[in-house]
Amino acid sequence: MSEPIVFYSNHANALVGTMRRKVLAILRQGAIEYVKADPATGAHGYFLVHPIKNEDGTNYNVTTYKIVSIRGVFSCECQGFTTKEAKYKLDPIANPPPNCSHVSALHEHLKRKHLERQEIMTISAAAKPTEG
Ligand SMILES: [Zn+2]
Repeated sequence: MSEPIVFYSNHANALVGTMRRKVLAILRQGAIEYVKADPATGAHGYFLVHPIKNEDGTNYNVTTYKIVSIRGVFSCECQGFTTKEAKYKLDPIANPPPNCSHVSALHEHLKRKHLERQEIMTISAAAKPTEG
């Protein structure tokens, strides 16, 4: 069976098995929320990945993770990411750049949003009434 979804990944083998299922669950359950920047306080915008449920409806996890963008690179506060990040900082040659299911899901989410927006713009441009 073919899989129409192509996932962002620094390492192609990073999205297999459990992680792939988790990314799909995050997307399907709409667990990603964008918290807008607040110009009044100078606070930057960030993303939240809310807890997801297993297929049987039980909780997969109960923690909400915050993802911030640091110089254009997403950084997650989960243990998996922070552990990989520490190893990467110690030895960037021996260790792959940090990644986790939350950041992978966010990349895929943004890619889909971008495609959605492009589609809407294409449709509205085509539907634009002609002048005269
Ligand atoms: Zn994470």
